[in-house]
Amino acid sequence: MGAIALAISLAGCGAGSELPATVQDATSTAQLSDADGYISTGDALPLTSDKPAIAKLNPALLAALRSADRAAGAERGIAITIAEGWRSERYQDLLFERAVQKYGSEEEAPKWAKRGTDSAHVTGRAVDVATADAMDFLNRFGSRWGLCQVYANEIWHFEMLTTAGGTCPPMSPDGRG
Ligand SMILES: [Zn+2]
Repeated sequence: MGAIALAISLAGCGAGSELPATVQDATSTAQLSDADGYISTGDALPLTSDKPAIAKLNPALLAALRSADRAAGAERGIAITIAEGWRSERYQDLLFERAVQKYGSEEEAPKWAKRGTDSAHVTGRAVDVATADAMDFLNRFGSRWGLCQVYANEIWHFEMLTTAGGTCPPMSPDGRG
């Protein structure tokens, strides 16, 4: 994927989009805290964290991720850490408003961010993993724990979409996590 496509996809997933200062003020992440599941851009949490971004994940998803993390550590020396986990509805709404401002309309914005409870992050059923090694490990082996990449253009976004050892469904072409 090219750098431009990656940057756009990252904005869609809620990480680090660059906006003019005036726009950033209106939808500033400064009003967000740990309680919203907010993780600062560039930070990552371990799956043992007791912060809401991790602790409020769906228990089955969290258990699968912890099992995958143990295997990744034992087999590859890789730690699976989380850049985006559970998000509050207001955090997700803020991401949607940022997308409206960035892409210019409520018609265009849903291609890049979901509203409130439409996002699997808000229901605790999605994570964005933080490192390329972890993305690669889960892309190749995640289905051992039922973990699947969902969107072809979001290599970091995983949900539990099959049973352990099952087959992941085809990816959706449009990233909207
Ligand atoms: Zn995501």
